[in-house]
Amino acid sequence: MKKILISACLVGDKTNYKGEGNYHPLVDQLKLQYDLVLFCPEVEGGLKTPRLPNEIRGNQVIRKDGKNVTDNFVSGAKKALALCRYLGIDTAVLKESSPSCGSSLIHDGRFIGHKIKGEGITTRLLRENGIKVYSENEIEQLLK
Ligand code: SF4
Repeated sequence: MKKILISACLVGDKTNYKGEGNYHPLVDQLKLQYDLVLFCPEVEGGLKTPRLPNEIRGNQVIRKDGKNVTDNFVSGAKKALALCRYLGIDTAVLKESSPSCGSSLIHDGRFIGHKIKGEGITTRLLRENGIKVYSENEIEQLLK
């Protein structure tokens, strides 16, 4: 079966900043057709769960208390790319709106719940390297 990288939280792993999962029901259909490789760039980048929220501001990622956590996000993104290269993965399904995994929307950096067009740090690096990234809202496109 073809391998797909998927945000671990979409499969139900409690990796998001609240210490919860973001299980999506279509993942069960995806599992029947693909070999899902679970990955959380923020955990792999060294961040704890639960954690304070983080948002992209310009070229940086800032934690809600003002700490610059860009290095953690870049580290997680590089590990995601390395894993894709190692396993020959060319497709990913990543959680929309996350500062790591968002593929068309991100929060605007003011921590007020406002979203703008944009992509997360991991999504951007994967796309720059030819990997197709879908959000959980586009899973149906991958189902045969
Ligand atoms: Fe889910 Fe991605 Fe956030 Fe990890 S970094 S909790 S995989 S959205």
